[in-house]
Amino acid sequence: MEIVRNKAALDDWRSDEKLAYVPTMGALHDGHLSLVRLAKSKGECVAVSIFVNPTQFAPHEDFDRYPRQLDHDAALLKAEGVDLLYAPTAQQMYPKGVDEPSPYQAGEAAQGLETDFRPHFFGGVVNVVGRLFDHVKPDIAIFGEKDYQQLQVIREMVEQYDLGIEIVGAPIARDEYGLALSSRNAYLSPDALEIARKLNVILRDVPVSDAPQALLESGFDKVDYVAQRWGRVLGAAWLGEVRLIDNLAVR
Ligand code: AMP
Repeated sequence: MEIVRNKAALDDWRSDEKLAYVPTMGALHDGHLSLVRLAKSKGECVAVSIFVNPTQFAPHEDFDRYPRQLDHDAALLKAEGVDLLYAPTAQQMYPKGVDEPSPYQAGEAAQGLETDFRPHFFGGVVNVVGRLFDHVKPDIAIFGEKDYQQLQVIREMVEQYDLGIEIVGAPIARDEYGLALSSRNAYLSPDALEIARKLNVILRDVPVSDAPQALLESGFDKVDYVAQRWGRVLGAAWLGEVRLIDNLAVR
């Protein structure tokens, strides 16, 4: 597996082979690896990026303490047979600084839900994913349904800017209790983990209008939203400093 840290090296590596690409922020878990396996089944070669993107975090959010473990992640990706790991520096992604206006804007799918609570978020996501697409030039890109609204925002961006990239959504990887795997689960204490595992159960079993109360009664500290859109029930709730999201198909 090649590891490259700048666009020029990436251009040298890029061939005519059909390239399937998985963007991540690292701290890889089985959810990310399931995307990698899907990418391997779709492309002739596979690239993964790891970049903790400053523009999608608000100043009070967890950018500084977001888990970073590049060597460990690289070993996992190598074991999966990934061809290329792109781990750009912030300078590569934002040569004129993070305040430079974004070349891409989020569309309608970004309205409501996450945006009501993290207004900066999808602007930062399309800013970095658009730039990463420009660097990597994939034929196919894989995104997890875990971040369901994000998947819709990316699909809309690719269409709106006519980027000619096939976007593939990957099913949510869960632990044995149904908790969606997330890099942020590493922040949870054992007690908090037990509560976190109720999120998927409540989204599945409790009507949307009653779910926020059920989450609070189960031990969540705050509920940002539980809502239905795109044939899914989507929810976001807090356990202490940790914000969890999940979604399920409406039954
Ligand atoms: P992140 O590193 O959190 O930005 O996630 C990178 C990609 O992995 C995104 O497309 C996520 O939706 C996807 N992802 C993260 N966790 C999961 C999961 N549990 N199941 C499926 N996809 C996931």
